[in-house]
Amino acid sequence: MALAAGPEKQVGKLVITNIGLMLSGKLEAPLLDADTVVAEGGKIVALGKQADCDTGEARTRIDAHGCALAPGLIDSHVHPVFGDWTPRQSQLGWIDSFLHGGVTTMVSAGEVHLPGRPRDVVGLKALAITAQRSFSSFRPGGVKLHAGAPVLEKGMVESDFAELAAAGVTLLGEVGLGSVKAGYEAKEMVAWARKFGIQSTIHTGGPSVPGSGYIDADTVLEADADIIGHINGGHTALPLSQIRCLCEGCRRAIEIVHNGNELAALTAFRYARELDQMSRVILGTDSPAGSGVQPLGILRMIALLAALGDAPAEIAFACATGNTARLRKLDAGIIEPGRAADFVLMDRAQHSAGTDLLDSVRKGDLPGIGMVIIDGVVRCGRSRNTPPAERVPEILA
Ligand SMILES: [Zn+2]
Repeated sequence: MALAAGPEKQVGKLVITNIGLMLSGKLEAPLLDADTVVAEGGKIVALGKQADCDTGEARTRIDAHGCALAPGLIDSHVHPVFGDWTPRQSQLGWIDSFLHGGVTTMVSAGEVHLPGRPRDVVGLKALAITAQRSFSSFRPGGVKLHAGAPVLEKGMVESDFAELAAAGVTLLGEVGLGSVKAGYEAKEMVAWARKFGIQSTIHTGGPSVPGSGYIDADTVLEADADIIGHINGGHTALPLSQIRCLCEGCRRAIEIVHNGNELAALTAFRYARELDQMSRVILGTDSPAGSGVQPLGILRMIALLAALGDAPAEIAFACATGNTARLRKLDAGIIEPGRAADFVLMDRAQHSAGTDLLDSVRKGDLPGIGMVIIDGVVRCGRSRNTPPAERVPEILA
């Protein structure tokens, strides 16, 4: 199948029928009683039982052949540079590879790997605006990458945040990766960012690579960023007692990443559940990083949390989709009319010990992806990266 590249929009109506299982992306009602989805203009317009949906005059008709459909996965924490290239591991095509792991949206936590990254205020603003512009109009494989996330450096003043916001910047890079590391300094800048509608994420735990910093729980709480970035470290985690303080001491998003400490990941997940605050849990890869890039990283996090975190698989999927969409203010991540028609179609991997898709994920296996759709456009068929799915959808017309 030819790959559609770039941000082109859906033409005509898309109808997907024979969906064996529909995951909503919503924690409170993770499974939908529906077998058909209809999209038009890149948005979901209807879902339900086939007989109840207007499926006529479809330009693209897909028979899901019993596969599961979920919202496209969202990676809450990536470090892009420019294009589909990362200097971190000298790798090309990493974003397109994530598409084959079911990821349809990514959020930048800072373009920190740019060789010679500017650290002066004018330079860091220019970089953020350029990255925002670049990834707004360049979408490898169709993946939506929200980028342009400046890293806080000493010397920034309130008007810098106003200027960034006016220029279209909506995110801060991880607080702590630049020269602003003290809680009181970060708190002031995070508040300025928030005042102008810019969302913030803070690095949590030990330094990721030489040159990055150590941020403890007290600093995270004082800075009060919107997202507790990689609460399980990236990779070095805080003591579990401090992770508990973060879960109990604020209501900010609890971001768990692949490039982190797995014991800390499972512990944070358990704390969130004990506190009945699963709605705060979002997932990311924190890649590219020293650990490489992980095209299947979000799927692996879902399987980890379902299998060892003892959560229903559909809840783990909701953490990777609807939760992230709500906390990141994205129009994707949930299967409901009006949302972006971003879908991943999956089935149990061939030879999995699980009896069906959800059971296989609960047993720690990765699903097989059979198709990924972004904005109502088919972006790939059978994934080149996941284990092969037992069944795959078919484009009928
Ligand atoms: Zn970090």
